[in-house]
Amino acid sequence: MITAQPVALLRDNYAWLLRDGATGATAIVDPAESAPVAAAIDAAGGRLDLILLTHHHGDHIAGTDEVRDRYGARVVGARADAHRLPALNQAVREGDSVALGESVGRVIETPGHTHGHVCYYFPDGGVLLCGDTLFSLGCGRLLEGTPAEMFASLRKLAALPPETMVYCGHEYTESNARFALHADPANAALRAYAAHVRTLRAAGSPSVPSRLADELAANPFLRARDVATFADLRARKDKF
Ligand code: ZN
Ligand code: FE
Repeated sequence: MITAQPVALLRDNYAWLLRDGATGATAIVDPAESAPVAAAIDAAGGRLDLILLTHHHGDHIAGTDEVRDRYGARVVGARADAHRLPALNQAVREGDSVALGESVGRVIETPGHTHGHVCYYFPDGGVLLCGDTLFSLGCGRLLEGTPAEMFASLRKLAALPPETMVYCGHEYTESNARFALHADPANAALRAYAAHVRTLRAAGSPSVPSRLADELAANPFLRARDVATFADLRARKDKF
């Protein structure tokens, strides 16, 4: 079974330190800075088997080469964006498997934020690493993809088991909640979840991971029923 702990980076990024309970195999997702990531790896025993990359943006990959050189880990990322990712040992696409000890993650292609964005889903432990595709109470900006692509990407994530835990790449939840409440003010589940997030953040705690079931009930971008509704929401959020 996979467990995950956050490594806070930069201003509001999270890298995720994954551990396979059966073997102690360890992975880091999106190591944007090497020093805090190395400190977290060393504190957890100094072992690193894999580096998993969700997409090519600097705030997700910039520490990759230093971390790989220090621990000798294998780097996994999207085949579609291999030309603009650090050197990959495993170039993956939809449906590929990524082994971490005895746990196996599945690659889900989620174009929209970037062309080659991928998510990693570990069924054993119910862990979804989703980078800048799905955020708690929000979703990534459409920097390269169309609304239809991002809508389809989010539908794939929405179809995972509702008990799945969503490990995204940024602590954006409080500001996402402000737009979500503006867009969907009568949603009681959203109002309750937003209050819960404010409590967590006031205590200095991360608001992520979140439970997919809560996102399905409260996140307006997952609740949009069609591409046109989604596109309208995303455009309004960009100007909010
Ligand atoms: Zn990004
Ligand atoms: Fe990002």
